[in-house]
Amino acid sequence: MTNLIVAVDGPAAAGKGELTRRLARHFNLARLDTGLLYRAVGWAVLQANGDPADEGVALAKAKALTAADLENPDLRSEAAGSAASKVAAIPAVRTQLIDFQRDFAKNPPGGAAGAVLDGRDIGTVICPDANAKLFITATAEIRAERRLKELQAKGVEAIGSAVLRDMMERDARDAQRSVAPLEPAKDAFVLDTSDLDADAVFAAAVDFISRKVT
Ligand code: C5P
Repeated sequence: MTNLIVAVDGPAAAGKGELTRRLARHFNLARLDTGLLYRAVGWAVLQANGDPADEGVALAKAKALTAADLENPDLRSEAAGSAASKVAAIPAVRTQLIDFQRDFAKNPPGGAAGAVLDGRDIGTVICPDANAKLFITATAEIRAERRLKELQAKGVEAIGSAVLRDMMERDARDAQRSVAPLEPAKDAFVLDTSDLDADAVFAAAVDFISRKVT
């Protein structure tokens, strides 16, 4: 098999990050967290005191984006996540970011055997011909609980009800936008991780991908 492409989509804090890191190691794939692209654009708009919903500013920041911008640890903040979901609803911004993602999938860096991309529209828009597509989900309450634990582990003070509210707002924006709304591809394996631990999610994903590519 030349260049295995695995698409992993789903809402925030469903477990895509840990799963795709493990899949990358297991199948020798380069990994791209595509949320970082939208976070970097949203963060750049905030740094310029702009409104992330303003197309002119957001598109200018998307055009100026470089791979080095994705390394900024501030992109992990809730403020960056919220701004990301606003710039991500702007069709011109999404179009601007397509080539970077497709190029990564087709020409994975570091001599990898392929690529795993984690996002919202990888199986539907970015890589519709991916070898395997997974849609990872969980209830909003469980995802908010996981995100709260992650924040607390990083020493960030956070309130459970506020994390849940922000997550539901972000989910609604992602699911209702006119372009590339969050939804499983028709041929995606939908995995609800609400009652599964990371090992069980990984095992189910490896099993699905292995069956798809052999
Ligand atoms: O996955 P993460 O939380 O980093 O994504 C931040 C935001 O970026 C999401 O809420 C979503 O609005 C947007 N996004 C997107 N398409 C992707 C990845 C992320 O619209 N492929």
